[in-house]
Amino acid sequence: MRRLGTLERRWSYASWTAPSHYNLLMGLMPHISPRDVFASDYYQRDFLKFNERLGCEQLEFKRFVPRLYLPVLLQSLGYRTNALVSLPVLNPLTILNSGFDTYKLMGRHNDMRAMLTDMTFPEDQPSFYLLNVGETHYPYALPSEPEENWPRINGVHGVFKHLDDQLVGGRLRSTRKKMFDDSRLRMLRQRQIDAVKYLDSVVEELFDLVPKNTYITITSDHGELFGEDGYFGHGPIQHPKVFEVPFLEGKLR
Ligand SMILES: [Zn+2]
Repeated sequence: MRRLGTLERRWSYASWTAPSHYNLLMGLMPHISPRDVFASDYYQRDFLKFNERLGCEQLEFKRFVPRLYLPVLLQSLGYRTNALVSLPVLNPLTILNSGFDTYKLMGRHNDMRAMLTDMTFPEDQPSFYLLNVGETHYPYALPSEPEENWPRINGVHGVFKHLDDQLVGGRLRSTRKKMFDDSRLRMLRQRQIDAVKYLDSVVEELFDLVPKNTYITITSDHGELFGEDGYFGHGPIQHPKVFEVPFLEGKLR
């Protein structure tokens, strides 16, 4: 992944999958939390980065209004727009599916490699792809790991059956019994790190697949907590870690 550029620590606009993806598709990449600047100024400046991402020179903000939705803008610029998503909360019937020529919910929530076999790049038209990758989502399982070996967490596992993403996060140390011990949280955190390492090799396959001059942005829709201040996961959490995300982008050289 680091072949794309410098890894930055940035901040997501939202702590949960659906609103965060809406922000990303508005063209709002995770922010740098700048001081002494008006939000609208930062937003417009950030928007100008699309000149670099799209390889154009004078993309004006007014092209973006009133829809304020990246796939719609890209279609108007002649792009074929595609989404391959892992989390059912982003399924094709949601409001996020606007301005896409193709939009598919993957059969499994944790198989980025399967996405690569679905990607095609017509020669006569530029392509845009949104890939929502799920290996790094709870239970941080690689596609090779049988489901019966996934960690089972009381109160989360049943929810995960329905991939009800919004219910994954939450306060642990309530008046009720403590649900996680420290070694279990360390194990879960290590599983997420292992998932990122695994994805690094799939990303390499992505690099081999895309046309020359493809601009790639890798980031996350939100952070994840592993026991910090009594929280696990993401969603209904007010904590800096739930907004902290990695960000890197650029062209392959
Ligand atoms: Zn998410």
